[in-house]
Amino acid sequence: MREFDIKSMIFTEVEDVVSSMGLPRFRAKQIFDWLQIYGVMSYDEMTNLPKSLREKLAEKYPINSCEIELKQVSNLDETVKYLFRLSDGNFVESVLMKYKYGYTLCVSSQVGCKMGCVFCASTKSGCVRSLMPSEILGQIHAAQRDMNIRISHVVMMGMGEPLDNYENTIRFLRLAGEEKGLNLSLRNISLSTCGIVPRIYDLIDEKLPITLSVSLHAPDDKMRSEVMPINKKYPINELIKACKDYTKETSRRISFEYAMIKDVNDTDECALKLAGLLRGMLCHVNLIPANEINESEHKRSTNDRLQRFMKILNSKGVNTTVRRSLGSDIDASCGQLRSKHVRNSVRRDDCENFSKV
Ligand code: SAH
Repeated sequence: MREFDIKSMIFTEVEDVVSSMGLPRFRAKQIFDWLQIYGVMSYDEMTNLPKSLREKLAEKYPINSCEIELKQVSNLDETVKYLFRLSDGNFVESVLMKYKYGYTLCVSSQVGCKMGCVFCASTKSGCVRSLMPSEILGQIHAAQRDMNIRISHVVMMGMGEPLDNYENTIRFLRLAGEEKGLNLSLRNISLSTCGIVPRIYDLIDEKLPITLSVSLHAPDDKMRSEVMPINKKYPINELIKACKDYTKETSRRISFEYAMIKDVNDTDECALKLAGLLRGMLCHVNLIPANEINESEHKRSTNDRLQRFMKILNSKGVNTTVRRSLGSDIDASCGQLRSKHVRNSVRRDDCENFSKV
């Protein structure tokens, strides 16, 4: 069996650690609380454990950390963008958004990404590694502690492809929903995927009441393969079939993400094709004005185009909204801050607009 770091362990595994060290059983609950509820990054903070035990645990079971490297706060809304430094020196991004119903955190699942979508900044230098469950949880804990808030909603829409880090993602979800831990409602967690079809079927079997978001971005194979290489492996008809099976098995509505790129996928013809593809499905379409990134020539569609595209879909009975864009002054779309920061490690001179924490 695969061994996980202590913060990625479920409660019974922490109990096994405690018994293997010959400790009384109540220690398991204490340790699990500190790691999962409070998100401490050091045993020194576990004040109800004797010092000698803290030292022993630190040596045998190091805690994966997630420290704030940079923090940017939007002047337009209260969106906060974090760049976190992991124990091995890698960086990941998270974005905290404030809505009427509470705080939502957008978390990363990998350092970089290997999916190669042409409009996405996260994938430009490939995938360095996948995150451990503890490192995905760590982003929630770090933001909660920094802002002194409770996060109620999580979207896995940061850097990385969660279904390319399947086992750790599932374990993260179970730990996040754990009553003895963060106790997040899984209904308030969305997982976004570029469409790794076999993993969507695996996800059905997990029976987790999360929301599945699928990044579609194009209405046919030719167009989708040009912007999302994964489409060459799992073409649209297979993906849509998997989505239909997902809604049939789980009775949960799927959310389709569609980034509107000027003159690429935003014509009336595209809207009509998309409507044909999704007609009759239990779904919702989120139109996202594409974020323009340095590494790509793609431009965002005009507001008129977005409105018209939405109108066509709605008139055909496909429920569609335009996503409000938050934090547009702080590079809040995934991958942008990390790629800038990594570049800035070489050229620190254009780094002054970041507040160093
Ligand atoms: N790998 C997952 C989740 C990460 S990306 C996925 O593909 O769904 C989260 C969402 O942001 C995806 O829908 C992705 O396609 C979209 N995205 C990435 N770069 C973007 C950009 N420059 N403008 C608009 N949306 C973008």
